[in-house]
Amino acid sequence: MECDILIRGGEVIDPSQGLRGVRDVAIRGGKILSIEESLPDAEPTNTVDARGLYVVPGLIDLHVHVYRGHSPFGLEPDPLCPAGGVTTMLDAGTAGSYNFGGFRRDVIDKAETQILGLVNLSCMGLVAANLGELRDRRYADPQGVINTIREHPDVAVGVKIRAGRHIIGEGEQGWENFREAVIAARESNTWLMVHIGESPMPIPEMLDHMEPGDCITHCFKGGGERILEPGGRVFPAVREAAQRGVIFDVGHGFGSFEWDVVEAALQQDFEPTTISTDLHTKNLHGPVYDMPTTMSKFLLMGVPLTRVIEMSTTRPAAVLHRENELGTLREGTIADVAILQPHTGRFVFTDSYRKERIGETLLTAACTIRRGEMVPGGGGLRMRHLAD
Ligand SMILES: [Zn+2]
Repeated sequence: MECDILIRGGEVIDPSQGLRGVRDVAIRGGKILSIEESLPDAEPTNTVDARGLYVVPGLIDLHVHVYRGHSPFGLEPDPLCPAGGVTTMLDAGTAGSYNFGGFRRDVIDKAETQILGLVNLSCMGLVAANLGELRDRRYADPQGVINTIREHPDVAVGVKIRAGRHIIGEGEQGWENFREAVIAARESNTWLMVHIGESPMPIPEMLDHMEPGDCITHCFKGGGERILEPGGRVFPAVREAAQRGVIFDVGHGFGSFEWDVVEAALQQDFEPTTISTDLHTKNLHGPVYDMPTTMSKFLLMGVPLTRVIEMSTTRPAAVLHRENELGTLREGTIADVAILQPHTGRFVFTDSYRKERIGETLLTAACTIRRGEMVPGGGGLRMRHLAD
């Protein structure tokens, strides 16, 4: 059996098939050709020795910023792919209706890595870190969002609003912006991602307007507005929203991940739906680094490996309504594969509030295969703070 790549002897973890075990994986023509306990007759052009490594579907990062040059947050997308095992990334509203066409032309269409985008309610997108994009209501452009999604249905998959008071304004102005984002999502038949910041609207009240498939990102942020009541209990409205299908996404970021919140939520059996990084220029070199580091933080918090993989592959694929082709290693699907290396030691992990915890497992991307091709470069153990 001729094939392009044979991944030999790795521990395959594919939640989409309920599969965990040592397997050989053959890839041909950009697709998964075969997964078997052993493929001795394979005649591969390239072989990856994955013994001792995890072979999982290409990671899907549901929250990044990759409109480089346009936004002070924008990263170059392609280097993030081999470094983080990420084969599909969702840009969370760096562009709005005025510049999504430029984002597509200059970034999405040029990148090798699959990029999808949410369209910001603000027509100019996320251009300035110092002044919120919806502080002036005249920037809100729900009809522009709808038109943009109609014009780019293959890559513009939903709507984004950053609902912090320094971004959308106080009181009624905040609500007007929020309502328009909801309308844009409904009328474009897509979904809404809400960044919860120090929001002028209480989270339970925003959830009243959110439907299954809509998403709260930064779900484990600390600060004044959080998914927990003042006493530390998960808001009943949050739990109820998760049960009816609202997505709770990690979106770690520079200011949106607090150990104590994660711990309290997990102790109450409240897990995130999806793990994502919110990678941008200001957190790439810590505390976020990449997807595998963010995933390792959930291992530290006691979430089983298989579920951590599911939250980073199968589930985000479902959020994107692409579970038939992404987030899976089923035969015949796109050959996006992340080969992750578990390192054992004492690693310092830092949350967004500069609090450190020591974890004993650090995942890194040893090899990334994108649409059936090995991506040059790779992660491995890069600069890390090692514990004493
Ligand atoms: Zn973000």
